[in-house]
Amino acid sequence: MTYHITLQPSGHQFTAGANETLLEAALAADIHLPYGCRNGACGACKGHVVSGEVDLGAYQPSTLSEADRAAGQALLCTAHARSDLTLKVREVSRAGEVAPRTLPCRVERMERLAPDVMALWLKLPANERLQFLPGQYLDFLFKDGRRRSFSLANNPEHDALIELHIRHVPGGWFTDQVFSAMKVKDIMRINGPHGSFFLRDSDKPAILLAGGTGYAPMKSILSHALHADAGRHFILYWGARTRADLYQIDGPQQWQAHPRFDFIPVLSEPDTAWPGRSGLVHQAIMADFPSLSGVEVYACGAPPMIDAARRDFLALGLPEDAFYADSFNYQETHEAR
Ligand SMILES: Cc1cc2nc3c(=O)[nH]c(=O)nc-3n(C[C@H](O)[C@H](O)[C@H](O)COP(=O)(O)OP(=O)(O)OC[C@H]3O[C@@H](n4cnc5c(N)ncnc54)[C@H](O)[C@@H]3O)c2cc1C
Repeated sequence: MTYHITLQPSGHQFTAGANETLLEAALAADIHLPYGCRNGACGACKGHVVSGEVDLGAYQPSTLSEADRAAGQALLCTAHARSDLTLKVREVSRAGEVAPRTLPCRVERMERLAPDVMALWLKLPANERLQFLPGQYLDFLFKDGRRRSFSLANNPEHDALIELHIRHVPGGWFTDQVFSAMKVKDIMRINGPHGSFFLRDSDKPAILLAGGTGYAPMKSILSHALHADAGRHFILYWGARTRADLYQIDGPQQWQAHPRFDFIPVLSEPDTAWPGRSGLVHQAIMADFPSLSGVEVYACGAPPMIDAARRDFLALGLPEDAFYADSFNYQETHEAR
């Protein structure tokens, strides 16, 4: 059984199954509503049921008072539709609308994805979730005031664990620790979400340019956008040095079954058995698109790749306001920005 949900004041619409919460259904339809705990405890997702019938679910009475209920309020992270609904809610459309928070977290899992790439999965305390837009990043905070930035790789709908892809910078203060001393159950402190690198509303084809662990935010963006499928075409160009550096490649390979997704891996130092494209990844895009006037580009990776892509793509007609990038500056540069 599915129900038709209309949001006020935006007019956005989506369908919700009887067994999914209204928040889950909205996120799956690429509609971002504010939320915190996803557990009926924090009240961040409170909305007003203008018409229709909901099952309020397992909310906490201190968060949804009798007066709230009498006024037609519901917590969208616990409420289920029982009829077609009209809801009055605040929607999150820009990154700044999700306020960054500082939270403790525990390293739940670590996996070496490539010789110099470690995946970390972080668990937040019970009743806490980190809301973010796909593409944004978080900072690790340290006692001496240092911060280290990493892009969120998980789909925001699957936020029970936060996934990060960390490249080892030899001699780097933090990443050296990740590859030598860090272990499961270590406690860390994070602050986020941050950044304005997220998908804009547009019908234009989106070219996603990832260098190395620049794949992390692309994974978050694509796993969310292809699932929501708003009819937009996505092309992921992922550049790495060797085949071993294309970690988790089965993900984009499987997404190729989607009619509106193409994946082009590009190696700068391929061995002779590599059947695919080689060279600089942003130049592969230029070879495929002699004009870039009709697309948007989202680029993420090392600063030299971002700088070269911006310069060369604008020369091929890409409008300046159609180039979005997160440059993996290291911290001294980043903190000075
Ligand atoms: C918004 C943002 C998002 C990011 N997301 C990711 C991500 O998802 N995955 C990821 O692997 N990295 C990401 N980075 C880069 C990451 O933050 C740095 O690599 C990391 O902070 C290095 O920390 P460190 O303490 O090990 O090195 P530091 O001790 O800070 O640096 C030691 C020296 O290493 C060099 N160095 C440091 N970082 C880099 C680098 N990235 N490239 C080249 N040289 C460097 C510099 O010479 C520096 O002086 C991101 C950066 C930003 C700004």
